[in-house]
Formats: sequence, structure tokens, C-alpha cells
Amino acid sequence: MNNKKCILVSLDDNIQELSALAESLGYIVNNIFIQNRKTPDPKYYIGSGKVNEIRKYIQDNNIDLIIFNSHLKPSQHYNLENYIGIRIYDRIGLILEIFSNRAHSEEARLQVELAKLQYEIPLLRDWIHKARYGEKPGFMAGGEYEVAQYYDIIRKRIKKAKEKLKKIEKERDIRRRQRRKLGYYLITIVGYTNAGKSTLFNLISGESIAVEDRLFTTLSTTTRKIPIQERPILLTDTVGLIDNLPHWVIEAFHSTLEEIFLSDLILLLIDVSEPIDIINRKLKISFNILIPDLKPSNIILIFNKTDKIVDSKNDLKDNPNIQEKLKKIEIEHGVRDIISISAIREQYKQTIITSILKVTNYPKKLSFSLPNITEAQSFISWLYSNCDILFIDYKDSIYISLRCQEKDEKYITKTVNDLKGL
Ligand code: GDP
Ligand code: MG
Repeated sequence: MNNKKCILVSLDDNIQELSALAESLGYIVNNIFIQNRKTPDPKYYIGSGKVNEIRKYIQDNNIDLIIFNSHLKPSQHYNLENYIGIRIYDRIGLILEIFSNRAHSEEARLQVELAKLQYEIPLLRDWIHKARYGEKPGFMAGGEYEVAQYYDIIRKRIKKAKEKLKKIEKERDIRRRQRRKLGYYLITIVGYTNAGKSTLFNLISGESIAVEDRLFTTLSTTTRKIPIQERPILLTDTVGLIDNLPHWVIEAFHSTLEEIFLSDLILLLIDVSEPIDIINRKLKISFNILIPDLKPSNIILIFNKTDKIVDSKNDLKDNPNIQEKLKKIEIEHGVRDIISISAIREQYKQTIITSILKVTNYPKKLSFSLPNITEAQSFISWLYSNCDILFIDYKDSIYISLRCQEKDEKYITKTVNDLKGL
């Protein structure tokens, strides 16, 4: 912990995550400045009156850092640092700094370096532009030439980092193939930071890896062997997704995400105690990042931290709070394979393991509708005894969503078609 002081600046009062991020980096949040305005000021992001107020506050209170709850334009960044005279981060700058602090493996370090360099490019472009047009006389002695040279160096470093990462990715790919060859079933825990991924990992594996009530503990992934069935499982805990990250930052961490794409099964964890609109937004982003490369049948959606909204296990399924959220998520995202748990309670270990085994035993997921006729009844009984029914709804037609064994898929599809043809 460095116990340095920072202040936060925001255009709205949605600063909880930013505050947690700052604390993750070891800063004490000394004060929060909120300016209610719809659009940012082009020069300073906030109005000049506020800038002066902050400048005075910084001097009077020995503040080390200012963090803006947004993405600053390069020129705003420059104007602010130049006028206030201390270090300024915007949201991405802060996140990259945290990544940088937590990057222990060579791969993580390269990914962070790459992201940081890419972050600097537009700042540099702005500087070059200003040096060229004499708006920054004396800036970086030597002006345009030196900045341009520096720009060149950065571009070369980006190229080099990318090449090294490619090489590491290849090695990682080889290791992964070996795991598969050895017959491992690969399961990865995914979700936003603080959703409880590491807690769940510990619950399932009986391990104890760092769990902290802050946004990051590590950038690396942890993998353990889980002996719950004949085909051994390798369970991996990953770094969390973070709110409001631009696409290129996520790109920089692509090889970490690759671990996710190549899994047999994803446990997607959601903190259910958060408001439904936040849950929906996070799910949407998770799906946008994950689903294009992953079949929905390979995802189990897990509602975690149910203990925060209900106090006993018994009425979990009927609890109106959870029911309402489940319903909304079903409608919004079409997901029906949801389980509700509390990763801090030992009793849910079995719930999770049962769900995992269901997926490994019934790997195929099918959704279809049947005509609501008597001939369908015996088929439905068969489904009940041979599959894992996820959802069934009797309307004019019967809507069914289920998991089945690979060997039964053909029979089911054929019978559905036959019944439809009756
Ligand atoms: P990660 O960032 O997703 O790996 O999250 P962690 O596993 O580090 O957990 C973040 C915080 O949430 C820690 O303080 C955990 O103790 C807490 N937490 C995790 N699961 C639960 C849960 O089911 N209920 C409650 N109340 N807290 C939880
Ligand atoms: Mg964790």
C-alpha cells in the first residue's frame, strides 16, 4: 500500500467502481468532485470554475493524483495536467496502471505493455500536432522532431510486443492441445470482477487462492484438477471483465480470453445483488464478447451472492427478488440454464457439481416446440426420463429446452419433426 491520496472527478454520481479501482491501486480517496453537466467542457472536460476549485484543493491538501471517471481527450488530458500540475488518470489510464501492477507473468506484462502503448498513441499524435503548429512552444525540447522520433519508437515497441505475444500464444495453444489429448474436460470461470469467481473456484476445488474485496488480485489465471468424474476436469479461474473498457483494451488481453473460447464449459458468474439494469448490461457485454465464439450450450449462468438478497436457502427458487430477475434475464437474453448459489456457503458446492455433471453427461442443448397434442405426451415422458429438461411451457404449442446425450440427439430431432408432421 502506498497510502497516497487521490481525488475523483465525475460528471455523474456513479463513482462506486472508480473508487474501488483507485483503492485497488492503493490510493486513499480523499474527496470526490461531481459536476452535474450533460456534455463535457471541450477544453478541460469540466468547467473552468471547477478546475480552479480543484487546483486550489490539490494545493491545500497534498493530493497526489486526480482520476477522471471517463475517457479524456488527449488535449483535455494535456490541458488539465499542464494547468493543475499533478498527475492525472482517466478511467482507462487507471485500469492500465492496475493491470501493470498486477502483471506477473511475461505474457501479462506484454499484454499490459501493448495496451499502454496503444493508449499513448493518440496522446502522442496530439502532441505532434501541437508541436507542429507551434501550440506548445518548448514542449519536449526539440519539439516536433523528438516527439516524432518517440512516436516511431513506440510503434516499433508495439510491433515487437505483438510478435512476442504471438509466440507465447502458440506455446499456450500447444499446452492446451496436450491437455485435451490427455482427455481433460476444460471448465473456465468467467465474469465481472468481484462477482465471486475466485470464491467459487475455491469452493469447487477446495483450494484457497486469494479472494479480496477489491477489483483485482492477479492478472494470471489459475488452473486446478478437479476429480469429480471419470474424465478429469481442469478448472480455471480468470481475471474479471471490467465495466466500460474500450474494445482495444479487451483485444490486448485476447490470449487470456482465448482460454475462455477454448473451454468445454463456461461458468458465467453474475453478482445477483446488483440492480437488474446493471446485471443486464454486464450480461449483454459478456455475451457479446463470449458468445460469438462460444455455443450457448457451453455456458452455465450462475447467480451468485444470493445470500445478499434472501436469507435462507429453502425459498431461493420462489423468492420474488430472484424470480423477478430470472424472468427479466430470460426475456432479455433467452438464457434458461441458470442456477442460483452463494459461493461463500459450503452447501452450494454440491449444487454446482451437480450442474457441471449434468452438462458433462448431457452435453447437447436443444430447444424446440411441439404441437400440443396427445401424441406428444409419451415422447415428453421419454424426454423426462432420458434428458435434463431445462424449461417446458405448455401453450398452443409446447416449448421445450433441454440437455441430452449426444447419442439421443438424432432421435429427438426426428421425433420432433414427425410430431410436427402429424
Ligand atoms: P472475483 O473478483 O470474481 O474473483 O471475486 P472474489 O471471489 O475475489 O470475491 C469478491 C468479494 O465478494 C469477496 O469479498 C468475497 O468474499 C465476496 N463474495 C464472493 N461470493 C460471495 C457470496 O456468495 N456472498 C457474499 N455475500 N459475498 C461473496
Ligand atoms: Mg478473482
